[in-house]
Amino acid sequence: KREDVPATVHGIDPSLVDGRALDVVHTLKRAGYEAYIVGGAVRDLLLGLRPKDFDVATNATPEQVKALFRRAFIIGRRFRIVHVVFGRGREHEVIEVSTFRAYLDNAAAEQVQGNERTAKGELAGMKHAVDASGRVLRDNVWGPIEQDAARRDFTINAMYYDPETEIVVDFHHGIRDAKKRVLRMIGDPATRYREDPVRIIRAVRFAAKLSGLGFQLDAKTRAPLAAALPLLIDVPQSRLFDEMLKLLQTGHALASIEQLKLTGLAKGIYPLLDLVVQRADEPFVKAALQDTDRRVAEGKPVAPSFLLACVLWSDVRQGWQQRLQAQRPAFPALQEAIDEVFESRIGDVSGRGKLGADMREIWTMQPRFDKRVGQGPFTLAEQPRFRAGFDFLRLRAQVGEVEEELSHWWETFSTAGEAVRRDMVEAVR
Ligand code: ATP
Ligand code: MG
Repeated sequence: KREDVPATVHGIDPSLVDGRALDVVHTLKRAGYEAYIVGGAVRDLLLGLRPKDFDVATNATPEQVKALFRRAFIIGRRFRIVHVVFGRGREHEVIEVSTFRAYLDNAAAEQVQGNERTAKGELAGMKHAVDASGRVLRDNVWGPIEQDAARRDFTINAMYYDPETEIVVDFHHGIRDAKKRVLRMIGDPATRYREDPVRIIRAVRFAAKLSGLGFQLDAKTRAPLAAALPLLIDVPQSRLFDEMLKLLQTGHALASIEQLKLTGLAKGIYPLLDLVVQRADEPFVKAALQDTDRRVAEGKPVAPSFLLACVLWSDVRQGWQQRLQAQRPAFPALQEAIDEVFESRIGDVSGRGKLGADMREIWTMQPRFDKRVGQGPFTLAEQPRFRAGFDFLRLRAQVGEVEEELSHWWETFSTAGEAVRRDMVEAVR
């Protein structure tokens, strides 16, 4: 049931709304279409947060949207959306515009397929995108706004905001749940997890992200989570890897790990994530997770290679130590230990060449920090990946694995001028 909620009730501060999003909504409405800011942006606005990006939903088709903007591009095949681009270069901004989608459970999707083959045009008002084999791409079946709302995941993610009238359109008591600080799945949670098992991980992610504001998972949304875990078998590993990174790299790593434990998902989403959870209380891994959350909060970039290098460091060290004791020379010993760890732990992401290469570089830099003589330090400090290697060293110092003096020396050296650097190298001996 649709509720149109005025500003006096929802209290959204219009100054938090991005000018470009306003522009897109305005243009679409002036052309006679319905258009709203939608999803996570409305949730954040309602909570008084400045959204990091704005999505717009409309009843105009992608082609109709594209025709209204000078720089608009239709993206995707399975899920066709339009990117409206503003500005150039580093400053450029993208507003994502999607057409209202029909809510189709699996049975309804099959129906649409059948109709498409036997009685073309029978489903008036719906546009079907059909792939090469004649299968309807269910995500491209347009529908009315109330169906678009029903296919979304959580009640607080399914609201529509018109920035001109300042009305929030709410079909599933999103405003009530936001006030009550409840994260509630729309519809029957177990069914919704079966439809799209990635929602299991999204439940954890939003519970973690919003836990700081006092949100909790609704009991009925939480209850089927653990039992739904085996459904993730059907989700491609690459998608699970990406979802893992969203849990760990969006500023709520520690909260996510806590939620994984609370919901009974500490094991079974993805092997590397299991390992992170298992090791989260080890001082070095904990320091790395805290450091990641802090960096995101400060708006600094974070790299998956760094965090994963931290999580797997104890394995690398162990293998390295063993080989040193067996009289292998230091450098090949380290390389072999790294190969072994990649084989045993990262087999499933072996396709991610860059990630592995970056991790290897961070690790192989570590023994080089011990050699503070000759040209060594000068070459090392000029390496493009020096910063990541040094941050790793700093964390090692923080947990007492190396002397604090060493990390302090490199900190000073890396920021010093040529003369001071020479003097520092002289003084080491
Ligand atoms: P964030 O701030 O983390 O980006 P978000 O709510 O914007 O949060 P997105 O992944 O960007 O999350 O998705 C945008 C919107 O699309 C969601 O708010 C939700 O309404 C809908 N959505 C995304 N993924 C799903 C899904 N798997 N099932 C149902 N609805 C989804
Ligand atoms: Mg988003």
